[in-house]
Amino acid sequence: MLQLGRQIRQLGGILAVSSGISALIMAMGATGLWQPLEWFAFDRWLRLHANDNVVDNRFLIVTIDENDLQELEEWPISDSSMAKVLQQLQIYQPRAIGIDIYRDLLVGNGRTELKTALQTIPNVVGVEKVIGEQPVPPASELDPQEQVGISDLVADNDGRIRRGLLAIPCERTVKSCNDSERHQIKYGLATKLALIYLEQDNIYPRVLDKDRLQLGEAIFRRFSANDGGYANADGAGTQILINYPAGQTFFDTVTISQVLNGEVAANQIQDRIILIGATAVSLNDLLHTPMSLEERLPGVYIHAHIASQLIGSALDGRTVLQGASPWIKHLWILLSTNLTMALVYGAIYHGGVYRQKNLSSLVVAMPCVWFGVVGIVYGFFQVGLWLPVAAPIISISMSSVLLLLRQNQQLHGLASLDGLTRIANRRSFDQYLQRCIHHQEKLALVICDVDYFKRYNDTYGHQEGDTCLISVAKTLQQSVRRSDFVARYGGEEFVIVLPNTEISVAHEILQGIQAKLASLEIVHQASDVSDYVTLSFGMIALDSLRDVTPKVLIEQADKALYRAKHQGRNRISSL
Ligand code: GH3
Ligand code: MG
Ligand code: MG
Repeated sequence: MLQLGRQIRQLGGILAVSSGISALIMAMGATGLWQPLEWFAFDRWLRLHANDNVVDNRFLIVTIDENDLQELEEWPISDSSMAKVLQQLQIYQPRAIGIDIYRDLLVGNGRTELKTALQTIPNVVGVEKVIGEQPVPPASELDPQEQVGISDLVADNDGRIRRGLLAIPCERTVKSCNDSERHQIKYGLATKLALIYLEQDNIYPRVLDKDRLQLGEAIFRRFSANDGGYANADGAGTQILINYPAGQTFFDTVTISQVLNGEVAANQIQDRIILIGATAVSLNDLLHTPMSLEERLPGVYIHAHIASQLIGSALDGRTVLQGASPWIKHLWILLSTNLTMALVYGAIYHGGVYRQKNLSSLVVAMPCVWFGVVGIVYGFFQVGLWLPVAAPIISISMSSVLLLLRQNQQLHGLASLDGLTRIANRRSFDQYLQRCIHHQEKLALVICDVDYFKRYNDTYGHQEGDTCLISVAKTLQQSVRRSDFVARYGGEEFVIVLPNTEISVAHEILQGIQAKLASLEIVHQASDVSDYVTLSFGMIALDSLRDVTPKVLIEQADKALYRAKHQGRNRISSL
């Protein structure tokens, strides 16, 4: 019972410490310290998921690469070429066409044809840029309500695009909103295209509350600044995490030259979303994503990925990726740390690790715990919840190291203290005496022994005998000076080392012990010398320790003790 109570108290102490460490790790996390590590894990997992063999057949990307630029001998693509591209595509009736190229300025001849194309071909969406210092307006021929999407992409501090901006209220984009637009919402190019596509399947967005939007089967929760591994991100507007299923390979592509030459098959266009965008390296619309460390993805692909995510989730139940909200994150860090600490504590105190010296066990156990944490986080990631992984691992590791240090300290204590009386044991006494002799200190050595202790045990029982020994040890410890040393030598015998002490002073100290013990009045009816428990002392005091060994010293003190016993006990005898 006593043992259980002690263990619960110990475990409580350990959990209090690990909770404190968890809180510290969370506070450090709030400054963004772990963010790069969390992103690293996030990116890795997305790449682990990636399957280069799947293609989203709802999309076709019309690329403009270096060869096209050579062939067309123009950039930007002239209005007449663009008009022709649109007309060519329209022959096979796509569901929607997104043009991820700014068309605010007239380029070459053919603006009239382009205007006609933009206004007569259904479901053409152009782009404008609204965020930042330099907004770019949409082509004036486009209907600003129906035919314009924003092309802005949100990059993290490390330059990677992990989030898609679905929509943004106009007041956030002061520069590009005119007064009549102030209370409107601007949609991303991908959102616009996805909504047009889904409309034809009779799926319309439903706002569930201020943070959640339902699209067909899927519910999207608005990204907020501290979700998942993020700390203080710009969560403006409505954003989602992009669950990239692959990189470029996820989309069927044709070049703009192929479209102009009529080399595209009907089934590549019909009923699909067509996205037109620049992929030529020289045009520099290339961005880092989690899908590759080095290779950058053209912006048009990222818009396609966002649209594909919206449609895939709405129609096919594709996993929507969500960052854990701050309170779930904190609960996870706290729980994982405390649970691990409880297990480590259990292993140490019940699994016998305690006795085996535990550093090596921890070295083996920690990587297992790390793998466990990574496994759990990856499991949740698979079903769409992004939990932090670096923060709990750091928190668990720090807590374990602290526990280990504490335990080592305890082990050290165990090795040098007597288990019953909690004063120094014989081992520490041997070391101490050796040191004294080494330093050639002048000293007095005393061995003392409880009188008639066998009878005490016989009369009051072994348990009472133990309690008596604890009282005697305490009395000795409390009666000596700070510089003196008291240890249990064995059984009911104790030793006292009094460094740099005159024999007369030593006598006084021993008399003090006798008086203090007498004042405790520990009844000992079976003693022949007193009604209470008494001690006999044997002392050897030396001015010089030259050529003295511990063995000789102890033998001398023992001899004096024998004399004290012989002379009638409850006395001090010195050589
Ligand atoms: P004397 O006055 O000559 O010292 O007689 P004594 O009975 O004290 O000496 P003896 O050496 O015959 O007996 C010592 C007893 O101390 C015997 C042993 O059972 C008891 N003893 C030794 N260690 C412990 C202990 O840890 N707890 C208890 N309760 N008894 C102990
Ligand atoms: Mg005795
Ligand atoms: Mg004895």
